[in-house]
Amino acid sequence: MSTSDLAINLATLNPRAPLRDSIEACLRNGITAIGALRDQIAVAGPEEGLRIIRDNGLRVTSLVRAGLFPATEEAGRAAAIEDAKRAIDEAAALGAECLVILAGGLPTGSKDLAQARAMIAEGLEAILPIACAAGVPLALEPLHPMLAAERACVNTLEQALDICDQLGEGIGVVVDVYHLWWDPKLHAQIARAGASGRVLSHHICDWLVPTNDMLLDRGMMGDGVIDLPGIGASLAASGFKGPPEVEIFSAANWWTKPADDVLKTCIERFHACC
Ligand code: ZN
Repeated sequence: MSTSDLAINLATLNPRAPLRDSIEACLRNGITAIGALRDQIAVAGPEEGLRIIRDNGLRVTSLVRAGLFPATEEAGRAAAIEDAKRAIDEAAALGAECLVILAGGLPTGSKDLAQARAMIAEGLEAILPIACAAGVPLALEPLHPMLAAERACVNTLEQALDICDQLGEGIGVVVDVYHLWWDPKLHAQIARAGASGRVLSHHICDWLVPTNDMLLDRGMMGDGVIDLPGIGASLAASGFKGPPEVEIFSAANWWTKPADDVLKTCIERFHACC
C-alpha cells in the first residue's frame, strides 16, 4: 500500500500554518491527496492558494467547508446560502471531489431542534441545483451529538441519509469515525449509503479516553477506542474506493509538532491500524 492510498486533511497539520508549508510537507512525505481548507486558502490569497494546489498536481478529495444554515434572522440564512455558493465555485476551481457541509446547530437562543433541522434541509435544497450544475457533490457530515447545539444538529448517518434521500441526486455523506463510531446502526447505515452511492468521503482519526476538548482533542489512529478496521471493512464492502482522509483536530498535541513528524506518524498508523 502506498501513501497515495491516504489523503491528509490539512486541518491535521496546524491549520494556521501557511498553505504552501503544509503542502510541501505532504509532498515530502509522498502524500498527493489532500482535504483543503477554505480558510487556509483565503489566507494564502484565493488565486495564490488555487495555484499552489494545482501547480503541485494535488488531488483534492474534499474542500472544507460550507453550511451552518440555521439562523434566527432570514438575512443570516441567506448569508449562509450565499457563502455556500462561493464555496461551490471554489470547489469547482480546485477540482475538489466534494464540498463538505457542516450543517449548523441551534440558532442563538433557540431550543427548537426541528426548526433548525428544517433550516438545514432548506439551505441544502437552495444550493443543490447550483452544486449539481458545477459538478461539485455536496458531502453532508453528521457530527457527534455532543456538537448538536453549536455545530451540527445532523448527528447520525441515518439522519444524514434521510436528508439525502429527500433531496435526491448530487448529495452524499462524510463517514467520519470520530462522529459516528458509537452508533449501533453504523454498519447497516454504511451499507445503505453504499447501495445508494452516497459515501463521498471517509475521515479517520481516533477517540481518546478521556477526551479533553469536544472539538480539538482528536486522537491519532491507534491511540483510542475506535474499531478502525471494522469501519474500514464496512466501507470497502459498501463500495467505497477511498482514499480515506486523516482529519485530526488536536490543538494541544499534534498541532504543536513538526508537520513531517505528524505525517510520518499518520502514514505508519494508517498502515498499522486501519
Ligand atoms: Zn470530518
